[in-house]
Amino acid sequence: MIENEADVVVVGAGLAGLSAARVLAEAGQDIVVLEARDRVGGRTCSVIEEDGRLVEYGGQWVGPTQDRMLELIEQFGLDTFTQYADGDNLQLVDGKLLRYHGAVPTGDPLIAADLMDAMVDLTSAALEVDTAEPWRHPRATELDGLTVESWIRQQPYCEGAKVWLRAMTRALFPAEPGEISLLHALFYISSGGGLEKMIGTINSAQETRITHGSMQVSERLAELLGDSIRLGCPVSRIEYTDSGVTVHHDGGITRARRAVVALAPTLAGRIRYSPPMPGLRDQLTQRIFMGSSVKISVAYATPFWREDGLSGHMMGDNTLVQVTFDQTHPDRPEGVLVCFVDSNSARRALAMTAEERRAHVIEDLVTYFGEKARHPVNVHEKLWMEEEWSRGCYTGILSPGTWSTLGQVLRTPVGPIHWAGTEYATVWSGYMDGAVRSGETTAAAILAEAGR
Ligand SMILES: Cc1cc2nc3c(=O)[nH]c(=O)nc-3n(C[C@H](O)[C@H](O)[C@H](O)COP(=O)(O)OP(=O)(O)OC[C@H]3O[C@@H](n4cnc5c(N)ncnc54)[C@H](O)[C@@H]3O)c2cc1C
Repeated sequence: MIENEADVVVVGAGLAGLSAARVLAEAGQDIVVLEARDRVGGRTCSVIEEDGRLVEYGGQWVGPTQDRMLELIEQFGLDTFTQYADGDNLQLVDGKLLRYHGAVPTGDPLIAADLMDAMVDLTSAALEVDTAEPWRHPRATELDGLTVESWIRQQPYCEGAKVWLRAMTRALFPAEPGEISLLHALFYISSGGGLEKMIGTINSAQETRITHGSMQVSERLAELLGDSIRLGCPVSRIEYTDSGVTVHHDGGITRARRAVVALAPTLAGRIRYSPPMPGLRDQLTQRIFMGSSVKISVAYATPFWREDGLSGHMMGDNTLVQVTFDQTHPDRPEGVLVCFVDSNSARRALAMTAEERRAHVIEDLVTYFGEKARHPVNVHEKLWMEEEWSRGCYTGILSPGTWSTLGQVLRTPVGPIHWAGTEYATVWSGYMDGAVRSGETTAAAILAEAGR
């Protein structure tokens, strides 16, 4: 057991915690970073598997306007490549496979017209939400009292467009449309700069990958911080007074003048605080739930779908697999489809054995990409809801009624305890870029408070 002291203790070595620590360390603050896992990177997780293949189990894509991630990639000299997007995407409508190009399905003209309207309606409503203060929206209470599902039901769009809007919601959050506050959905879309920037590939959030894995960004940040990072040190309790914190973790005790708790709010709420968190803060963390997703990487001898003029991207509705993308690595011969099993499907998937999940996933891929999909050479999966130090992904979601009644508490420090994490970001909340921005913003606030 060790006992040590620092100016600031950072809890969590994901992108937010590491970014906060870096800014503070560069300003001359003495830092200790406590991380529960035996690695940095949190919800990014890049692993070279036994077959020599890089598997991206967590966050992976960056795109335009995700400026802080793009700047770090450039600063660290990391190689990138563009997401494969040639060929047609696939959509299953009434049992029929339709091909389309671009972010929104155009296979059925009626559905396509309504979807264009829906994209414009949602994006313009979203851009009216100030991501720093969503509760100030003139109709905050009304919007927060609706779910995405109740909004979809009120719209004049055709049934096919509504089916696709529900599928898009599950892919984006990932949660059921009936679970998500409409105000939260609009906040999220606003923070990403509009739906078109979020759901497409080229010129959108799925445009670029980091050749040797997104976790490299965290690893490079960690190199800058040296031995101030302690891995395998889950924090269980934080005692605090106006003048400092005493943080209890599996490696011992760390005392500091301030703490940055850089965890998803759900997990921050599971730490024991003495004195206890103010009631409003705890009520808030009770109402932010983690999305449900399983990410599965299915490797084939070759990217056979490309020969059939397909991009490898599909968005499904009734299938277990709801979204796929071509995940083929430019340095490798195998073709890889990355499959996202989201929301209720992820909950169903967790009740299956690994063999059952694999059989369902392969059957779905055969439905979309044909018999050649029946014989993968390798399958890797990560059940993010089972991960003790994440408990779901891609991000925390505010349930109905939360932003309008408790939102003001979200980013407010409690005594010497400050908060960071992608959920706190005002730009690209839920994404790696948001995590970096939130860490840097919180660090800047601490430095300002300390008069630096
Ligand atoms: C499957 C998946 C796909 C995604 N796809 C994308 C994508 O393509 N593009 C994109 O931009 N984003 C994507 N994301 C989201 C992105 O990965 C996250 O927004 C971002 O990594 C969050 O960073 P963070 O630092 O806020 O939180 P985290 O990464 O969760 O960091 C928190 C850290 O705290 C640690 N921790 C937890 N509890 C404790 C404790 N009690 N004590 C000490 N340490 C603790 C955790 O181990 C973790 O390292 C995806 C995420 C997942 C999982």
